[in-house]
Amino acid sequence: MKIRGLKGELLDLLLEIGTARHPYEFAGLLRETDGVIDELNLVPGTVSGEESASLLLDMMPLDTHVVGSVHSHPNGHIKPSLADLGFFSRSGRYHIIVGYPYSRNDWRCFRVDGEPVPLEVFP
Ligand SMILES: [Zn+2]
Repeated sequence: MKIRGLKGELLDLLLEIGTARHPYEFAGLLRETDGVIDELNLVPGTVSGEESASLLLDMMPLDTHVVGSVHSHPNGHIKPSLADLGFFSRSGRYHIIVGYPYSRNDWRCFRVDGEPVPLEVFP
């Protein structure tokens, strides 16, 4: 499935959850409908470090509409860590990181290899 973009409503939700969980991380899986990422499956529980976010994501059951993952970086550094790259390869092709201070500019999407991939935001 070719992904065309991301729903603005979902992006706002991801940024809101990042703000609500700060200074802790959150993690979840992203689902698509007709090529647009529009749904979040939130991983339950509060995690406080890169390693634990990866572990939680590893335990999520995968379904065919899951296209990747999202998690937050409370330190505001929007770049995949080594632990991130490890689970990216196991949970889909599109991986969003949102970072402090969680504005509309504080997110990026990455490919499995950690290279940024542009995603159009749909209204
Ligand atoms: Zn991370």
